[in-house]
Amino acid sequence: MIDLRSDTVTRPSPAMLEAMMSAQVGDDVWGDDPTVNAFQKNLAAITGKQAALLFPSGTQSNLVGLMAHCERGDEYIVGQSAHTYRYEGGGAAVLGSIQPQPIENASDGSLPLEKISAAIKADDFHFARTRLLTLENTIGGKVLPEDYVRQATEFARSRGLSTHLDGARLFNAAVASQASLEQLCTPFDSVSLCFSKGMGTPIGSALVGSQAFIERARRWRKVVGGGMRQAGIIAAACQYALDHHMDDLAKDHQRATRLAQGLAALPGVEITSQATNMVFVSIPDEHVAPLSTWLKGHGILIELLYATRLVVHRDIDDADIDKVLEVMEAYFKQQ
Ligand SMILES: *Cc1c(COP(=O)(O)O)cnc(C)c1O
Repeated sequence: MIDLRSDTVTRPSPAMLEAMMSAQVGDDVWGDDPTVNAFQKNLAAITGKQAALLFPSGTQSNLVGLMAHCERGDEYIVGQSAHTYRYEGGGAAVLGSIQPQPIENASDGSLPLEKISAAIKADDFHFARTRLLTLENTIGGKVLPEDYVRQATEFARSRGLSTHLDGARLFNAAVASQASLEQLCTPFDSVSLCFSKGMGTPIGSALVGSQAFIERARRWRKVVGGGMRQAGIIAAACQYALDHHMDDLAKDHQRATRLAQGLAALPGVEITSQATNMVFVSIPDEHVAPLSTWLKGHGILIELLYATRLVVHRDIDDADIDKVLEVMEAYFKQQ
């Protein structure tokens, strides 16, 4: 199957599995796993933060990030279409007693400063305490403009807010903008990173921030059940991805661009956006279900019902892109 539903579908390569199998392990809840410790130290160094903490998922890493910044009755300002608002089951409210204050994302994924400003509440017991600004990079595949990130985080800080970045795909942002991870992380107090997307691990996310922040996060991670034992097998996969997979993301971006160009030439498809490894398309309603069936019949999986999005990743090669374009073209020809 050519699976373009998400970059989460990547499978670990034999070399990654080998790294996992040969990892030295210990009980990480006791702080005893040498592979986890080395990975966290390394990740902190390359993101320019004091400390890092391994998580089983990005949802949990974001949740714990929010809980380490905010207390019960606090709120975080977040984009209407952000993962930390829309796609995490309301976890901050459910488990953290933290209220989201969503505001509309601009088309480039940013949250306009005047809207952030208007959303910050006065210190008054009628209101939740506005504590945190959270941004996402990449968002819908788009790299947040660097100037914007600097302005927004400086503004948040000037109003007494902390800042958190959902950097599930920050590796894609770094490769696409030729910025270092450190440059992209420096404006934020904390960043959540995912290795199970385009980086290709079977599991693994991480939170980075100050020593004091990560100590609070370690407590909340335990509370939500994220303390893992011989987690070195996961850290080994994440370290392997850092060492061997990050540069490959450039190929995903090139293939996504070629896919978008090819699709744009088809009569029934409109490209609504393409950035890094994602292609968003608009297809007339009457074609959505039959096209899905047609593609599946030709060994291609695309999520057309929820997000009309095609995601390129390391298990997709040039021949796969050719095949997708051929099969799509054939569908519209037989109409
Ligand atoms: C995938 C993703 C996450 C975390 O998802 P998990 O599946 O829980 O690892 C967080 N934020 C964004 C933007 C994501 O795409």
